[in-house]
Amino acid sequence: MDKIASFTINHLVLEPGVYVSRKDQDHATQAIVTTFDLRMTAPNREPVMNTAELHTIEHLGATFLRNDEQWSSRVVYFGPMGCRTGCYLVVFGDYNSRDVLDLVIRMFEFIRDFEGSIPGAAPEECGNYLDQNLDMAHWLAKRYLDNTLYIIDESHLVY
Ligand SMILES: [Zn+2]
Repeated sequence: MDKIASFTINHLVLEPGVYVSRKDQDHATQAIVTTFDLRMTAPNREPVMNTAELHTIEHLGATFLRNDEQWSSRVVYFGPMGCRTGCYLVVFGDYNSRDVLDLVIRMFEFIRDFEGSIPGAAPEECGNYLDQNLDMAHWLAKRYLDNTLYIIDESHLVY
């Protein structure tokens, strides 16, 4: 079987950043979908992010994106990577990392500063509604902003 594209990236040297991992085109409509890897930790060199805080980041991030005036209609998906080094952001359209940087910064500021009850964290709305950690979501969002997003350069925007 062919190796999928994301497995061909050398994870030994990969650093946190905002990277385009795929652009897929539907040949019937010509519509393009861009997938971004929002890498929050250095793979295999930093501790894994726990499921609960990633779950909270997913709930808050998705809520933010679905309510963003500029981007809501272009967002296809947001959610955690299986390896728990970050999240995927999938949007309709042909974009590069600079195009979504402001959106990603505003999303993680929303997560860093969020107080109150987590949207969708109720038994009728979520499959494991108690598996949440808002304090760690705050901490991880602040860390991604301070150590990566606010000081990002080209080497952390392109694979
Ligand atoms: Zn949930």
